Amino acid sequence: MTLTEIMQTLPYGPAPEAAQPAMDWLKAHKGRFQLFIAGKWRNPASREWFATINPANGQKLAEVALANATDVDKAVKAARKAFVEWSQTRGHVRARYLYAMARQIQKHARLFAVLETLDNGKPIRETRDTDIPLVARHFYYHAGWAQLMESELAGYVPVGVVGQIIPWNFPLLMLAWKVAPALAMGNTVVLKPAEFTPLTALLFAEICQNIGLPPGVVNIITGDGQTGAALVEHPGVDKIAFTGSTEVGRIIRRATAGSGKKLSLELGGKSPFVVFEDADLESAVEGVVDAIWFNQGQVCCAGSRLLVQEGIAEKMYAKLRARMEKLRVGDPLDKAVDLGAIIAPVQLEKIQRLVQKGVEEGAKLWQPSWAVPAEGCFYPPTLFTEVAPASTIAQEEIFGPVLAALTFRTPEEAVRLANNTRYGLAASIWSEDINLALDVATQIKAGTVWINSTNLFDAASGFGGYRESGFGREGGKEGLWEYVKKIEQHRTAQGQSSARGLTARASAESLPPIDRTAKLFIGGKQVRPDSGYSKAVYAPDGRLVGEVGLGNRKDIRNAVEAARSAQEGWRKTAAHSKAQILYFLAENLSQRAEEFARRLSEQTGQDGAAEVEAALEALFTAAAWADKYEGLVHPTPLRNVTLAIPEPIGVMGILCPDDQPLLALARLAGTALAMGNTLVVVPSPLAPLSATDFYQVLETSDIPAGTFNIVTGERDELARTLAEHDDVDAVWYAGPRAGWALVEKASAGNMKRTWTLPHSGPLPDTDEILRQATQVKNIWVPYGA
Ligand code: NDP
Repeated sequence: MTLTEIMQTLPYGPAPEAAQPAMDWLKAHKGRFQLFIAGKWRNPASREWFATINPANGQKLAEVALANATDVDKAVKAARKAFVEWSQTRGHVRARYLYAMARQIQKHARLFAVLETLDNGKPIRETRDTDIPLVARHFYYHAGWAQLMESELAGYVPVGVVGQIIPWNFPLLMLAWKVAPALAMGNTVVLKPAEFTPLTALLFAEICQNIGLPPGVVNIITGDGQTGAALVEHPGVDKIAFTGSTEVGRIIRRATAGSGKKLSLELGGKSPFVVFEDADLESAVEGVVDAIWFNQGQVCCAGSRLLVQEGIAEKMYAKLRARMEKLRVGDPLDKAVDLGAIIAPVQLEKIQRLVQKGVEEGAKLWQPSWAVPAEGCFYPPTLFTEVAPASTIAQEEIFGPVLAALTFRTPEEAVRLANNTRYGLAASIWSEDINLALDVATQIKAGTVWINSTNLFDAASGFGGYRESGFGREGGKEGLWEYVKKIEQHRTAQGQSSARGLTARASAESLPPIDRTAKLFIGGKQVRPDSGYSKAVYAPDGRLVGEVGLGNRKDIRNAVEAARSAQEGWRKTAAHSKAQILYFLAENLSQRAEEFARRLSEQTGQDGAAEVEAALEALFTAAAWADKYEGLVHPTPLRNVTLAIPEPIGVMGILCPDDQPLLALARLAGTALAMGNTLVVVPSPLAPLSATDFYQVLETSDIPAGTFNIVTGERDELARTLAEHDDVDAVWYAGPRAGWALVEKASAGNMKRTWTLPHSGPLPDTDEILRQATQVKNIWVPYGA
């Protein structure tokens, strides 16, 4: 090559990062790794081992132990034993350990980065500049929360032993997202890394040893899906935290249903990348590069659907193609490479299959002119245009470097297309008009929205999904709630004590005549149940006090439809107005306090007047919170405001407990309503008449039709329909344990949020209800002139 040719083409020379330190580390372990249980390295009971392969060249890196159910049991027992002391260890001491982990990761950053690249195939530029720095940041950040737990999370205790299962796309980062908050809050963990990428977790285990972390606080068990399943099913585990595919998330939801295990799921996505015609196109093109070609597109929040405004679509595509032509795919250890290797042949085949499907379904494929390396697992950056919104490549998570582009005309259409997915993990919005961008950000159903930016992550900002992208948050203060539970004796919220232990005083004289069968309340109207049947309501002493309609599936479906129609309007109703409506509801209830008190006494044999008072207070509390449940501004370390906004979950089914029928209704439904949800409420099965009387109060208040629906009937039958319904976003079920399993299992269809509560006894405190009634959206808004 002549000098002139070199000057004209300026080709990249090789710029490899040395693999040697990592290879030396592997060699020092003789290429074989045991399980890390109770602070010691042990052979697996299975006596089986599996190979971990470098996807860039197909070479074996090491052999790793395959943990079976016996190993899982040992690890869980070790974690349980360690929990006794670790949970009592002062926050300051835990903070020191987390701080030491952060320091150690920084000190060994290069080894970690190289090892991660070797095991996963992602470019060294990413492991070095993104993964490992973020890992350290997570440990630092959570060291702070360990320090502050006592004051900032007073009344909360750790959950216990946490089983954590992570995927292969960000092996060490996912470990950090899970281990750091769990330890900070005083839990102990059993972590299972992905089969394809166990190595950095094992190096992390060595760090735990080196810093003198008490044995059993962190246990790392390598293995496959069956190891994960054994961990999920182990009765000694108090919580499961999972990141991976929606498919496995669904299996885990079903497997843990009814077990009382706390669960957080971070699942798949098909995130929209929305470009308006006033966007800075050069920046948007760079954004796309980050959104879909970062980590070869193997990112749960990858911006895999490009939605571009019609007028600029061709211009944007032309710029994108020019940029794609310049991307470099190759040896992940080369510092000048943009895309590394795909994790494994099975994933490569999946990408190829879905791309083929895209072509068959009529979308237009474009790939750069150059070829990817023949050896190893590589796939070129790919752009599909003329993609139909319902086509497979617009709907299915490809988990590869494949972008599907669609066009839109108006912001409304952009929102519709963006939300045309079963997922809801993230979104990116590009516009120089901040009003437009924020308006669209609030309408897209996703846990994270980046404005004029993409794939920004930080420990201070919560990350997690809406809809089938899962539930729970990782990072930020909101992420801590996943790893704590309320101390029982703290359930002392207002009104509770006054309504409990009430004296029985139902008297025969106060019995009203059996005069009517209460109807259901759907879409703002009293309606007869579809079945035409009714259900008798008895007093504790066995006397008949009334009848209510026996609602069925059809009634629930009608109620859900009404709640869905009302949802958009109620969500958008100003917080102040919601508060006013709830106060008015309380006012109307107070006017009929005596009648309600009498009815309560009849049904429950308890002091009805006290319960009415408590219910009024609960409605006032809900009204008070309607315009005061504030979000946070997270201090992420960029020129950036990150707005953590609590949003309503949507359409909720609430199945009330047996006791305190009016108070439960006011506390649970009132709070959910205050947060902007629309409701299908199934009242207490023992004392439903107070709820059916309550619809008369609703009728005289300003609650919009469809916002608050009431269906009486068999609790578990109605619960099943609600939990199975794909247009219901959350179900709260207060009932017997068998019902918990039923609801949790049935909820897996659309991965709706569930909250299970005892059928009687104290109601949860308002702060817990508020959290359950909302989901946090983080909106990142970078700034700079
Ligand atoms: P999985 O969801 O199968 O794996 C995630 C983790 O769960 C791994 O540690 C896996 O173990 C483990 N696991 C597998 N089956 C079970 C089970 N029944 N019970 C408990 N744990 C289990 O993802 P894959 O790695 O198989 O990838 C499949 C597809 O999922 C990809 O093609 C991609 O589309 C998507 N994916 C999405 C991710 C996201 O964050 N959204 C992350 C990873 C994948 P093991 O590794 O041994 O199988």
